[in-house]
Amino acid sequence: MHSSETTPASSRQLMTELQSVGMRLEDPRAGAASRRGGAGPSDHKAVTIDGVTIMVPVHTSTAWDSPFVASAPDASGAVRLTRGTIPIASISFPRTPRFYAMQTMEGVPYSHIATLHGADVLATTVLQTCIRYESRRKTCKFCSIGQSLAAGRTIARKTPEQLAEVARAAVLLDGVKHMVLTTGTPPTPDRGASILCDSAFAIRAAVDLPIQAQCEPPDDDRWFSRMRAAGIDTLGMHLEVVTPSVRERIMPGKASVPLSRYMESFKAAVAVFGRGQVSTYILAGLGDTAEAILSISRELLDIGVYPFVVPFVPISGTPLEDHPAPTPEFMKSVLQPLGAMVAAAGMRSADIKAGCGKCGACSSLSSYEGLAA
Ligand code: SF4
Repeated sequence: MHSSETTPASSRQLMTELQSVGMRLEDPRAGAASRRGGAGPSDHKAVTIDGVTIMVPVHTSTAWDSPFVASAPDASGAVRLTRGTIPIASISFPRTPRFYAMQTMEGVPYSHIATLHGADVLATTVLQTCIRYESRRKTCKFCSIGQSLAAGRTIARKTPEQLAEVARAAVLLDGVKHMVLTTGTPPTPDRGASILCDSAFAIRAAVDLPIQAQCEPPDDDRWFSRMRAAGIDTLGMHLEVVTPSVRERIMPGKASVPLSRYMESFKAAVAVFGRGQVSTYILAGLGDTAEAILSISRELLDIGVYPFVVPFVPISGTPLEDHPAPTPEFMKSVLQPLGAMVAAAGMRSADIKAGCGKCGACSSLSSYEGLAA
């Protein structure tokens, strides 16, 4: 998490650029601890700059052409970041979490149940299968939820007991501060709300850890109070892209849920979780104009939803693997006015109790909060 009060303009600019164009690794072994595949943005590596941890694309085709190169870490863990041949910053990679060395009694590695995101977030995809993924024609074209399963890096369904066990270890051994429970969408009308409730209930019984759940809008708004009662602190329902024609093109299955349904669900969820504790992920760079993203963000802020706008990262093996990432200029043209709008709506990343908006590692948005548009 970062904010405009603490982020110098030069670091903000560097973070926005790195998240768009990615970075090459001088030592390929340093890439082993990066995220590949999974739900949501991926093919990233966590990088700490000026005390702020952000996710930077390293396994994408854009990153292979990036002017930014990270050296191998020296004995103290410091990494030299160069642009072309010019050293521009000293960065570091977060250490491999201790809980990754553990496994369940049945022999499932903890890292196949949940992973460390950013600096201090434990994240998991509770259900690694998705109705939107059954037909490649209908699938969300940016998503690789099936790939990490096929590659044996995770398991299809994490039980509440497994999640509780790993969450407890990650808090005790690695000091994680909050947790993200996302899910593929099951073929049930609750859209996964029920398994998110069961998971959160078990985790909260084992350890005191704020939780964000993420799912498509459930059929019945009563799920929001059930989720809250199960110990879920914040909710993410992710629009991903916002213009109707872009929704049809990028996520033909999920586009069957109209934007109006999302807006109704957002209002009902804010009534339960509170202003700023409901958020949505918007992937910039897939065809929405800056105006379209800013216009829906204004509507979302009006009803108390935090619009977490992140640069699209093309993931290898997905239909969009060769789609260009957004330019740093495009990202700045969205994030600078958006940061001012978020602040004017009285919201701050730091006030979010758990989840992506709080973590902020996938977007430099919070470093623009409060800056003039
Ligand atoms: S912003 Fe969300 S998806 Fe990105 S690293 Fe943080 S918790 Fe993970």
